[in-house]
Amino acid sequence: MRPTYLEINLAQLKHNLEAIRAHVAPAKVMPMVKANAYGHGIEGVVPFIEPYVDMLGVALVEEGIQLRQLGIKKPILVAGGTMIGQLPSFFEHDLTLTASSLDLLLVADQLAESTRQRMKVHLKFDTGMERVGVHEYEAEEFLQKSLACRHLEVEGIYTHLANSEKVDRKYSLLQLERFQEILRFYEKNSLPMPMRHVCNSGGILNVPEAHFDMVRPGVLFYGIYPGRDIERKVDAKPVATWKSKVAYSKITLPGRPVSYGSLWQAEGSPTRIVTIPCGYADGYFRNMTNRARVVINGKSYPQVGRICMDQFMVNAGEDDVKVGDEAVLLGGGITVEELADWAGTNEYEVMTNISARVPRVYVGAVQ
Ligand SMILES: *Cc1c(COP(=O)(O)O)cnc(C)c1O
Repeated sequence: MRPTYLEINLAQLKHNLEAIRAHVAPAKVMPMVKANAYGHGIEGVVPFIEPYVDMLGVALVEEGIQLRQLGIKKPILVAGGTMIGQLPSFFEHDLTLTASSLDLLLVADQLAESTRQRMKVHLKFDTGMERVGVHEYEAEEFLQKSLACRHLEVEGIYTHLANSEKVDRKYSLLQLERFQEILRFYEKNSLPMPMRHVCNSGGILNVPEAHFDMVRPGVLFYGIYPGRDIERKVDAKPVATWKSKVAYSKITLPGRPVSYGSLWQAEGSPTRIVTIPCGYADGYFRNMTNRARVVINGKSYPQVGRICMDQFMVNAGEDDVKVGDEAVLLGGGITVEELADWAGTNEYEVMTNISARVPRVYVGAVQ
């Protein structure tokens, strides 16, 4: 196996889920496992966590199909925008549709009727994200028509928060108010209420009045907080550690610049430069050149010289760092927030960018 890998602590992952569940009880929990479980590896994460979840959320139909092919039996909500041509897959793989437009809803119902099958759907409303979903001011017609869809089971109703990680809750509360207005349709007409869900990780932490019947944690399930200023009310901790090993160790003289573009060189005295077999093709952002730090043998060192596709260099100074010594790129003192800052991005992109070339190794799976 490659010396560079992403270690996932499954015991901590389960702990995170339980901490979220305790915080939102009696609401149900649907972890979002889209984008290869936020980079943590769908194949290792989902079969392990399945017994403890109420539902699973993905973005793409293809991700839902992959979960079924892995033998996952729990309900799966496809949350992203679905094309009409993809609807047959929902029957074939027992997936739950996000009905985000009247068109999609009606075609799904017709297809269900003509093929004598049933489809579970969650109605999606746009209360202020301007992405997918029906605006609250057009909800009435959509809801009326949904009642006439005899071949669909309208199991859920939801919306998505655009600013939930912000300490200023004004926009979230505005969205919540718009969602409440939509829900009044069911009360007014004395109809049974579908399962209501609103909260992503930010909402779970910041908007407790919107927990409703279920929550949809993404980043927090993996132990990462959705914002820097958000109060850390749930005891969730990161589960991923990105490890590698020193692959080469040499003394470099002043006047001998390191790597492409000669962006860095030793000043004054010779220094030990070690090579880590990991690069931007693995998701170690090239943009972090001369900014990142790496922990080797428990000590933090600066990354130096242009990060290459498959390797990068670290300045070990006068220390005796050897080939085979362990290098930690994330975790063990290096936070995902630091990586995000070095790369000029956010924590979500750092994790989802770790490429398929990096093996995922699962530890701590005591159930
Ligand atoms: C990805 C996603 C989430 C999770 O968001 P986090 O900020 O990672 O918690 C929740 N709901 C929907 C619809 C999503 O697509």
